[in-house]
Amino acid sequence: MPTSAASLLAALDAHALDATDRGDERFGHVSDLPFCDRKTWARRNGLPLEPIDAVTRRKFMLGDAVEDHAAEAIAKAFPGARRHVRMAIRVEGRNVVSREIPEDAEPHSDEIVGHLDLDLPDVVLEVKSTVFLTDRKTWKPIVPTADSLQRHYQVQDAGYALARGKGMALVVVCRSSGLAVAALYDPETFRDEIVDRIQDVLLFTAPGAPRPPAEPFYAWECKSGYCPYVGCEKREPRRG
Ligand code: SF4
Repeated sequence: MPTSAASLLAALDAHALDATDRGDERFGHVSDLPFCDRKTWARRNGLPLEPIDAVTRRKFMLGDAVEDHAAEAIAKAFPGARRHVRMAIRVEGRNVVSREIPEDAEPHSDEIVGHLDLDLPDVVLEVKSTVFLTDRKTWKPIVPTADSLQRHYQVQDAGYALARGKGMALVVVCRSSGLAVAALYDPETFRDEIVDRIQDVLLFTAPGAPRPPAEPFYAWECKSGYCPYVGCEKREPRRG
């Protein structure tokens, strides 16, 4: 194939579209805890979802690369750190318990699955990437505080922390500026919510369960088209 602008862009797009799903889409995930049960139900029941285009996939892959870079850097600095711990997680009373499982193992029917970014001796760590907002007066990025980091990051992280019986930490890296913010939280403040949400996800999103009501936790899931479930009447076309 001769080199041309079109062939270079086509190679980029082909690589992005080649990315495959993880293969555990029919199970509930820790990452489902902060989000709309109807959306999770649609994925677990194999209903039609909007395909992800090459540009969006590339954006996700760039985010993954930034998160890997940060997680590797932190893992190097903390002896005993472990990357990519896959767990099956369930509720016992008001406790959250877990067992480690291999990549190809299935959870039991009373368990959800989770892929922890980084397991440090005393905390679990999730790494996220985003683009910080810009201050329109100074044109500098606005670095978020621990209190203003997205709540869905915190809920997901708390699910892992309670499952591992450890503290919880978040690192969020700005893909545009390279700036980063780190924050620690007390997972006990999330315990009731996590216990309830694990039970909800298992009950309301299971294969064969009736379609849950359209009750998103965040309006932007529907308005931005971030939610891929095209069969929901609340969904608006995907933006950007
Ligand atoms: S469009 Fe909104 S309400 Fe409907 S499934 Fe998606 S997130 Fe839930």
